[in-house]
Amino acid sequence: MKLKQEEIVNHLKTSGFVFSSSEIYNGLANAWDYGPLGVLLKNNIKQLWNEYFVVQDPNVYNLDSSIILNPTVWKASGHLDQFSDPLIDCKYCKARFRADKLIEEKDPSLNISDHLTNQEYQELLKKYDVSCPNCHHQEWTDIRNFNLMFKTFQGVTEDNLNTLYLRPETAQGIFINFKNVQRTMRAKLPFGIGQIGKSFRNEITPGNFIFRTREFEQMELEYFCEPKQADLIMDMMLNKVKDFLFNYCQIKKENLNFHEQTKDELAHYSNRTVDVQYQFPHGMSELWGIANRTDHDLNKHMAYSKQDLSYLDQTTNQKIIPYVIEPSVGVERLLYAICCEVYEVQKLSNDERIVMHFPILLAPIKLAVLPLVNKLDEYSKKIFNQLVKQIKGKITYDTSGSIGKRYRRQDAIGTPFCLTIDFDTLSTQQVTIRERDSMLQVKIDLNDVSWYINSRLEK
Ligand code: ATP
Repeated sequence: MKLKQEEIVNHLKTSGFVFSSSEIYNGLANAWDYGPLGVLLKNNIKQLWNEYFVVQDPNVYNLDSSIILNPTVWKASGHLDQFSDPLIDCKYCKARFRADKLIEEKDPSLNISDHLTNQEYQELLKKYDVSCPNCHHQEWTDIRNFNLMFKTFQGVTEDNLNTLYLRPETAQGIFINFKNVQRTMRAKLPFGIGQIGKSFRNEITPGNFIFRTREFEQMELEYFCEPKQADLIMDMMLNKVKDFLFNYCQIKKENLNFHEQTKDELAHYSNRTVDVQYQFPHGMSELWGIANRTDHDLNKHMAYSKQDLSYLDQTTNQKIIPYVIEPSVGVERLLYAICCEVYEVQKLSNDERIVMHFPILLAPIKLAVLPLVNKLDEYSKKIFNQLVKQIKGKITYDTSGSIGKRYRRQDAIGTPFCLTIDFDTLSTQQVTIRERDSMLQVKIDLNDVSWYINSRLEK
């Protein structure tokens, strides 16, 4: 059965993953805070990405660049002039929309290009007879280009001279540090720079829960290479993204679509882009973008900064401007996709349980220690305190409610193992380990618990 957005949102909100932001002040539209389990899950996703794309590739380096950069960066990158969406208002109810999205909703097979003129959008609105989704009138304002960058001011005066922007992507921080990383790491092509960090876009129509927000985190990798290697590295990155999604995030192939952008859809800086789309509850939408950005960004920054960002190939003694292959994904979008994927309401013989089948590496909590009865609390606490130090990951302790209820609580947040201590443990030093997915229980020696769990956390 198709998962409904309300159902997964309700589950994540009520179980401590995500909260509406500023809730006690009636909230702030489309802003979300991450609760204790959401933070653990996010951290695990970021760690897994970093391990897979950075640590395990000897040619990839980390970077943490500023959110606020010299504004010329955004002039050079084209964001100041071109990073805008076609904004349209309904004259009748005053609701505000993105013209491209309104047209795509009328015909989901259309993938509207970023660079249509406002006149072309206007014509498509007419052709598809688009009316306001809110009040169903057809009284539109003209289309205006709305720049998505958040403005802010540095210093004490608020004027144009002091205007700065919150970065709308982490990638530009990487391009402007290309030479710093290359020089200090003595890196040879091909090599990559990976960065995880917040980005901000003043989206016209945020929504669909955490799918599109104005503040979000990105995990971006810029892989620099010789132009002639670019096609091969693009294919390699695509395969790595597939491997990561299928085998590490355990996303099913049938819920993904790999959309090869047509010439009309390509952004001005790209000669090939593949959108990895996921079947979210609201529909098939972009999860991860993989683009060949050519030498566009380095060339632009060379022109604006007047600095030499070329790479000297020591074997041929020739200077080249590297091409860049970029896989870029939002942390929250990936988190949302994983949560939709692993959520299940499972019918049992005389019961029902909600279970989140997180891959063990991603599960927020790895183990729950559950004394069978309260009388065993003191003894069990000692075991728990030992295991806290031994298990690689967060573990929890719970004494409240029947053991059945406690198992259900852990299933619902995706804890892969529960450890039960009963009176026999006092004499045998054996505990029961229950596995989340199979619900099978095995008795093991207390001394083997940390090995048993930790070995399952190794990939
Ligand atoms: P969309 O078409 O959905 O607006 P985009 O093509 O503008 O996305 P990119 O600029 O390629 O997105 O950004 C790379 C990735 O960053 C996206 O694939 C997505 O995972 C994430 N992302 C982009 N915008 C947002 C947002 N507003 N909220 C959450 N994640 C986002």
